[in-house]
Amino acid sequence: MSPSTVDTHCPYCALQCGMGLVALPTGGVEVVERTAFPVNRGALCGKGRTAPEVLARGARLTGPLVRGASGALEPAGWDEALDRVAEGLLRTRAAHGRDAVGVFGGGGLTNEKAYALGKFARVVLRTSQIDYNGRFCMSSAAAAHQRAFGLDRGLPFPLEDVARTGCVILVGSNLAETMPPALRYLTELRERGGKLIVVDPRRTRTAEQADLHLQPRPGTDLALALGLLHLALAEGYLDEEFIAERTNGWAEARPGVMAHWPELVERITGVPVPQLREAVRLFCSTPDGMVLTARGPEQQSKGTDTVSAWINLCLATGRAGRPLSGYGCLTGQGNGQGGREHGQKADQLPGYRKLDDPAARAHVAAVWGVDPDDLPAPGRSAYELLDALGVDVHALLLMGSNPVVSAPRAAHITERIASLDFLAVCDVVLSETAEMADVVLPVTQWAEETGTTTNLEGRVILRRKAIDPPPEIRTDLEVLHGLAARLGWEKGFPTDPEEVFDELRRASAGGPADYSGITYRRIAEEDGVFWPCPETPSTHPGTPRLFLDRFATPDGRARFVPVLHRPSAEEPSAEYPLYLTTGRVLAQYQSGAQTRRVRELNAASPGPFVQLHPQLAERLGVAEGDALAVTSRRGRAVAPALISSAIRPDTVFMPFHWPGEGRANNLTNPALDPTSRMPEFKVCAVRVEAAAAGA
Ligand code: SF4
Repeated sequence: MSPSTVDTHCPYCALQCGMGLVALPTGGVEVVERTAFPVNRGALCGKGRTAPEVLARGARLTGPLVRGASGALEPAGWDEALDRVAEGLLRTRAAHGRDAVGVFGGGGLTNEKAYALGKFARVVLRTSQIDYNGRFCMSSAAAAHQRAFGLDRGLPFPLEDVARTGCVILVGSNLAETMPPALRYLTELRERGGKLIVVDPRRTRTAEQADLHLQPRPGTDLALALGLLHLALAEGYLDEEFIAERTNGWAEARPGVMAHWPELVERITGVPVPQLREAVRLFCSTPDGMVLTARGPEQQSKGTDTVSAWINLCLATGRAGRPLSGYGCLTGQGNGQGGREHGQKADQLPGYRKLDDPAARAHVAAVWGVDPDDLPAPGRSAYELLDALGVDVHALLLMGSNPVVSAPRAAHITERIASLDFLAVCDVVLSETAEMADVVLPVTQWAEETGTTTNLEGRVILRRKAIDPPPEIRTDLEVLHGLAARLGWEKGFPTDPEEVFDELRRASAGGPADYSGITYRRIAEEDGVFWPCPETPSTHPGTPRLFLDRFATPDGRARFVPVLHRPSAEEPSAEYPLYLTTGRVLAQYQSGAQTRRVRELNAASPGPFVQLHPQLAERLGVAEGDALAVTSRRGRAVAPALISSAIRPDTVFMPFHWPGEGRANNLTNPALDPTSRMPEFKVCAVRVEAAAAGA
């Protein structure tokens, strides 16, 4: 590293690739390779490489905006803008009570910001109504982790282990497009002789790399996992010793497994029995193996049970709690992991403590200097909070999220946002949600601020500031400090991220996600530190690999959870005969608020499309590029046809990065998983027709 290069990390996905930044004399930064960082070894995808373009003046907000008398957003000074926010929140609280003020965070916020936002909601606003968009990302896997292992960390091992195991089943993840540098772990796996099985309704770029691609109907991977375990049992692959010594609950889970015989599973999933047998043979005939899930199985109204079924497969075959074996979730958003550990989730306090646990409340209240009884109870989950806007939540402070594009049933949620008495948005760009705000507060970007994130491995890393922000831009911590002061909290909301992190360490001490032994200095010296890392002993090395000796349950044993297949909340019908599944493309990130502003990315992926099979296209009489209207029970979206044999004939796919008439989330179903409260983004029933016919 040259003295002028600042080591930092990409602002986007949960891989949190290491990169170097060099400040340019003309302003902005240049991205350079950071080969020493082990996760990506210098590799970056186009999103990370082009991230500096969003730092330019034309792409971003350059000063606060307030809604003027004309109804338009107008430039304002910081004092006026912060005064307006404080007044808006106070006015609502006075009129309707504390829980009429909501807070909505984001999985891209640093640990420091997520922590400060949760504290601000509970201590300053004293509202229970806080949640964040990470609920839409990985909450089903988190819930299943908790049920089986007593602890939720996306991957219980470093990514390097993926390259050295015997067989990986990758369920509902398109790594090649969502986090391309991670693909090398799968490539290395296969070069070493390991096997890769991909489960996806589409033959994605990732599935093309697989030794075996299973292409189930959307929403049926729970049955698929049960069917694989049934076959593993029938063919003598169970690890009875591991089940006896390290698990509980197999006897209760076994009947559900027995009920999913191969022919039934073929009928449910559409995956032929010989492929099921081949998958079991590949997975079980190596000494170790892993199952990795992502949004495919998780974003379902039975996402928690679906992930539990995959975990059961790991447990029954002894592929958990051992080196080079286990179940992991590939978290999506940049700080999806840390963001769910430190208090912006409706039911959580810092350190992954539970808000309804009296001991947790007492510990965190002592760090915050408040009475535990003054902390609110758990609040609503993300979709339920958004759905309550204008009904009994009348003011919202939103930080780092764009639900107008990213929420399910988005047209309805847009109406709910419009019905608020007051909306304040902190963001780096004028997102579609920020356009609706009464006050927009422009905040710094990754290259302009310091803070920690926790990547999908549970590795706490340090993003360092490389350049100063434009003069009229403030950090989110400065925003919270300014608001807290106006609401009577002169102290308790420092603006120095390291000071916030030190408080977070104290708040997390002794909790499941214990960061107390992690310091900025250690992160810098060690290329990140894996939690849990308690402060004592001070030499604690962090925990790259979890569960090798015991699971985090009270008795140290993992738990089988009995699960059964059930249909998705909405299955195809005569009126809506096709499945819709949604997801991401290589050149765009989440709601696209940042990446749609980058020329190269926009040129590569300028808009939405409807991917459909040639047989379906022929039946509908549509050609490549024809405008298609896709209609569900919730709304309609229009986008050009992309005809491809990579998708099942009974399914269409739409990416969700765009607003307007091609907004995929006009269609998606907000049916919630009963445990995780995750909406069912991944499957709903739709009708497809030429756009003119559907008008
Ligand atoms: Fe950034 Fe993710 Fe791309 Fe890495 S893979 S450069 S973290 S967007």
